[in-house]
Order: sequence, then structure tokens, then C-alpha cells
Amino acid sequence: MLCTVSGDVRAPDVIEVPVGTPLREVLDLAGGPAGPLRAVLVGGYHGAWVTDVGLPLSATGLAPAGAAPGAGVLLALGWHQCPLEVSSRVVGYLAEQSARQCGPCLNGLPALAASMRALATPGCSPAVGQRLAELAGLVAGRGACHHPDGTVRLVRSVLTTFGDEVAAHVAGRCGGHV
Ligand code: SF4
Repeated sequence: MLCTVSGDVRAPDVIEVPVGTPLREVLDLAGGPAGPLRAVLVGGYHGAWVTDVGLPLSATGLAPAGAAPGAGVLLALGWHQCPLEVSSRVVGYLAEQSARQCGPCLNGLPALAASMRALATPGCSPAVGQRLAELAGLVAGRGACHHPDGTVRLVRSVLTTFGDEVAAHVAGRCGGHV
């Protein structure tokens, strides 16, 4: 399968790999991580964060992490980067990428983006994670296409993968920056 590898890697590239290639090897083909990795966003902006780069790039291999190869796009997140800030930017971008013809895109995605911005700010309210989970439940399955569902997948992945970072932000700390 064709993969686009970008983010915190030495040589962002489009490469072809056999299905089932471990994520670590795919990253190595793009020159390797530029430094210690925190996670990899697998499946593009509608994908999910994966912290175990030993997992194979296949539907069955990624399923335990709640991810899938999707569009074959990998985004490497360095340890120095804040996953909440990066995810907030992505959700903000996704909220802008619709014709705003359906309720989930007109109202739901901007609300998700606003709550993600709040979550990305150290010192955020402890209620913001719960608000994001509630919004995700309201938006999922309600669009005429799956753009809102893909955005919800990413938001839910943030909440399940980066619980420590969420707790740190609520406590007013941030372990990384963009
Ligand atoms: S749900 Fe799909 S079709 Fe409806 S506004 Fe959003 S992107 Fe457009």
C-alpha cells in the first residue's frame, strides 16, 4: 500500500510498503523519527492516535488500538510536541472543511473545535473532556457523509490516548509545544 509519512520524521515521503509492515519500519523508510516519538496519527486526519509503533500497518493489526490504515497517511508526533495542541489544530481544520449543509457540520464540528481549543490550553476546566465526549456522541452518525464521523474518531482517540496529557493540562501544565 502507498503511505504518506510526515510530521516529526527526518525525510517526509510517499512510500510503498506491504500491508502488515510494522509502523516503526514505515517510519524508518521515511528517514526515521527525528527524535523520541510520543505517538503516530494513523489513517490521516480522520484517523486515530497510536502509541505502539510495533503494531502492523493493517486493519487487523491496528484494530486493538482502535485505528485503521484508512488513507495510508501517517503523522509522527515528537515527544516535544503537545498532542492536544496538534489535535486541536487538526480538528479546527476539519471543522472548516465542509459546505455546512448538515447539522453536525454546521453546529457540531465548530463546537468540537472550540472545546478542543479549550483542552489544548493549560489550565483548562476539568469539565472540558466530558463536554468533548458528549459532543462526540451528539455528532456521530448524524451527517449525510462520514466527515463528522471521522472528526469524532479523532476526538475520541485524543481522549482515550492522551489521558495523562489531559490531566496535565487541567492541572495547568503542558509537557510539549508545537
Ligand atoms: S455531513 Fe458531509 S455532506 Fe453534510 S455538511 Fe458535513 S461534509 Fe457536507
